Amino acid sequence: SDDEGGVEDYLFKIVIIGDSAVGKSNLLSRYARNEFNPHSKATIGVEFQTQTMEIDGKEVKAQIWDTAGQERFRAVTSAYYRGASGALIVYDISRRTTFDSVGRWLDELKTHSDATVARMLVGNKCDLETIRDVSVEDGKSLAEAEGLFFMETSALDSTNVNKAFKEVIREIYNNVS
Ligand code: GDP
Ligand code: MG
Repeated sequence: SDDEGGVEDYLFKIVIIGDSAVGKSNLLSRYARNEFNPHSKATIGVEFQTQTMEIDGKEVKAQIWDTAGQERFRAVTSAYYRGASGALIVYDISRRTTFDSVGRWLDELKTHSDATVARMLVGNKCDLETIRDVSVEDGKSLAEAEGLFFMETSALDSTNVNKAFKEVIREIYNNVS
């Protein structure tokens, strides 16, 4: 980009969804600020974080949305999904119930967003290998069956966090360019 005034070539909205306490807010804070919070409560105030990167010489700005804890009440609104071109659907590899919920989140995403939305299934907390409750194979199979990208991550030790966001952003870029 030749722009000197910070005008981006592309602006993508990405939403993070999944059950409560799977690590959505920490994935975002790890990615956007390289921070992890072991005692994080429901997100207060912050609606989204933006990250800018360059792809093929173009300035791409990703506006990444985090819930404010509404998922606890199954009350994530259509406004949250509006205009999204990418989504991370997150579960916790140490809690099977959060994996069982993925189908419901995918349904909700389909209801509220465009069919072309780039989707990544994220098995977070892969540092908790000793208490793993969802195998890598189960994650992979579900992703294949639903046509999703798949990655296991750890917001705690940073494994694959940048990679997961970058791949979604790259895929959105491929969809629109
Ligand atoms: P959210 O409700 O989905 O936004 O989840 P949070 O980001 O608030 O995280 C819920 C809890 O899980 C917090 O205590 C975090 O410190 C913890 N947590 C988040 N990500 C990880 C991770 O990758 N590994 C481990 N061990 N704990 C994590
Ligand atoms: Mg949160």
